[in-house]
Order: sequence, then C-alpha cells, then structure tokens
Amino acid sequence: MENGNKSMNTPTNVTIKGILGTLMASIDEDKKKNLISLGMGDPTAYSCFTTNTVVQDSVVQTLESQRFNGYSPTVGLPQTRKAIAEYLSINLPYKLSEDDVFITAGCTQAIEVAVSILAKPNANILVPKPGFPIYELCAAFRNVEIRHYDLLPNKGWEVDLAAVDALTDHNTVAIVVINPGNPCGNVYSYQHLKKIAETAKRHKILVVADEVYGHLAFGENPFVPMGVFGSMVPVLTLGSLSKRWLVPGWRLGWFVTTDPNGIFKNAKTVERLKKYFDICGGPATFIQAAVPRILEDTKEVFFTRTLCTLKQTSDICFKKIKEIPCFTCPQKPQGAMAVMVKLNVSLLKDIIDDIDFCFKLAKEETVILLPGLTVGLKNWVRITFAAEPSSLEEALDRVKSFYQRHSRQQNGLN
Ligand SMILES: *Cc1c(COP(=O)(O)O)cnc(C)c1O
Repeated sequence: MENGNKSMNTPTNVTIKGILGTLMASIDEDKKKNLISLGMGDPTAYSCFTTNTVVQDSVVQTLESQRFNGYSPTVGLPQTRKAIAEYLSINLPYKLSEDDVFITAGCTQAIEVAVSILAKPNANILVPKPGFPIYELCAAFRNVEIRHYDLLPNKGWEVDLAAVDALTDHNTVAIVVINPGNPCGNVYSYQHLKKIAETAKRHKILVVADEVYGHLAFGENPFVPMGVFGSMVPVLTLGSLSKRWLVPGWRLGWFVTTDPNGIFKNAKTVERLKKYFDICGGPATFIQAAVPRILEDTKEVFFTRTLCTLKQTSDICFKKIKEIPCFTCPQKPQGAMAVMVKLNVSLLKDIIDDIDFCFKLAKEETVILLPGLTVGLKNWVRITFAAEPSSLEEALDRVKSFYQRHSRQQNGLN
C-alpha cells in the first residue's frame, strides 16, 4: 500500500478537461464545424437539454430585486440552506435542518470541502474505480492518500465490498460513493446501498455520497439517497443544481451533513466547517437567493421530460454500441449521463490503447470520446449520451466506420 505521509503528491494524473482540450486541439480547424463531442458531461451543449423558464425567471427576479448584491453569510443564505434541507428531507426518514446545509460553488467545491475537512496526517479515502478524477486531484493537494476500490462491471457496477474490506485500515476516514454513477451510468438498489452503509459502519468510516445526479434515474432501480442510512452511518451528501436543473455554469452546490445522530457533526467539526467556509467564497448571492423558488416551483413535467430524453438517448447509445464490434457494454445505463464501454484493441490493427483510439478517432472522424484511463480504466472509453439524438446516432455511426477502417478483419469499404 502506498504511504500517504510522503511529501506533497504532485497531481500529475490526466484530468478530463485536460485530455478533452488536447483531443480538441488535435482536430484540424476546418473540420471543427463537424465536431461531435460525447466526451464532456455538459448537456447544455445540446438544445434538448435546456433548463426551464421557472429556473431562469427565479434568477432574473432575485437579480432585479437589487436585494442580493451584497455578500451572503459564507456558509450560504439561510433561506437557501433551509430550502435545500427541505428538498433533501422529502426522501429521508428524518428531517434535515438548515444548519446541516452548506452552500458551495457547484458539487466540485463540495468535494473539495469534504476532502479538506477529512484530511489529517496519514488519512486515506476510498474512491471508486472507475471514478471521478476531481477526488484524486483534491486529495493530492491535501496530501490525503487515495485508495481505489473496484466497481464490478458484470454486477451492474456495484461496489466490490470485499475490496473495501481489504483496503480499509485504521487510517481510512471515508468511502466515496457516486450514485447515480458517473462514469458508469449505474443506479444502486436500496439493498446494495444498505450493504455499503453497513460496511462503512463496521469500519467506523464516513460515507461521502456524491449525488450530483440525484433523481436522474430512468432504469429499473429508483434513486435512493445514501442519507436514508444516515442513522446507521454518518453521510456527507454532496450535490448541485448542475445536472438535474441543467445549469452547470451557475455553480450552485451543497455540502450536507446527513447525520441525525450527530456522530460526525459535533460542535468542534461544525466550528471547523464554518471556518473553512470563510475561505471558500461560494456562489453568487442572487443565484443562492433564487434557490428556494427553483426548488419549489420547478414543475415535475420538466424533470420527466429530461428523464424521457435521457432514456431515449441511452437506448440509442446502447443499441449503436452493439453494432461496433470492438466495443462491449457490460451494463445498460440506468441513470446519469454517461456509460463505460470496453475497448477490444486486439480487433484493431493499428490502435495501441484507449488514448490512441480516441486521438485517431478525433482526427479522422471529428468525434470526441473520453479515454477510460482518465477515469481509471485503461482500454475502456466513456461515452456521454446526454446529446441530441441525431448527433448521437451520427457520432456512433462515425465510430463504426472508424472501426471498419481499422479492423484487422477487413480493409474497410463495406
Ligand atoms: C459533474 C460532476 C460533479 C461536479 O458537479 P458541479 O456541480 O458541476 O461542480 C461532481 N461529481 C460528479 C460525479 C460529476 O459528474
């Protein structure tokens, strides 16, 4: 096991934004108008993923009121904290209070807060593989050791609980669970989440529940928030408006102590948290002020429409993947906005690995997919299906012809 107590780890790992930028730069200027990117998880690039007017009007209203041009309390506006506490409590067996909620600049800052608050000498945190690279990046800056547990592709990307047992020691402080999942599109059952909670309880560690895709579940399993097990094990719930309300650029997120027994949330931790928030500088006050109305007035039909579109595009994606022999998809996506496919490079005559595949694909077909290596799995590829159906079909048709040209079997032209 790596020793986390060595000198500052330099964050050298490839980031999603970093590699997508390099992929983009490799495409010839004159071809860029044909570009289809299924690499990034920003659905707002496509007009079928537009937020609704209530959400926009709420912000216009708070801005025009001129009442929210000042600083907010560093932990967030009280009405915003209260509204998020109420919103999250709907799906919990107990009620959160506004003191449980801290407003952050998107879920990204909530991750940063979680890692920083949990950091202490020799501490390690368990994160999923494949996963979301921001956790590694934050941990590297805070000198926290990261240990990867596997998600099991043939079991619906469930957590390998035996691996969690093997990785945990007395320096382990938390396990990160991303559900609904990015990059795999998994949605965990109540039973599986309960097992994760029991495992965390047994090891006396916290659960960091990244629920930035909360409620974006369109398959068999309904979305169950980890906080349901908050009485069993303290949960830090991280979320944002970004994905469900389709406003990732607004940078409005939350860090929530879902811990009704106050195991994590004692007076000392709360004091530390408050101090930490003094240096955070959260989202703009007028956006915070719009949150109560956004949460209250967004019509169910808006959410239903998004889910319908995601179901449709994930179906297209899954069907098209099956037509590409060098791809296998172990699990049909059930939620979130992306899916992982295994790349069989042995079927290709001149492709070394996932990175090589994605660069050649970008150059030849002006289609961008994310190399699996960036999320921890070499020779896999992440495909974002939050795209216009026609663009998605076109992009995957181009991947198919790319396969045909590079296949060992044929010399293309069929
Ligand atoms: C998008 C995403 C985030 C970041 O959310 P923001 O609100 O845009 O900062 C965090 N975790 C996961 C798993 C994500 O996919």
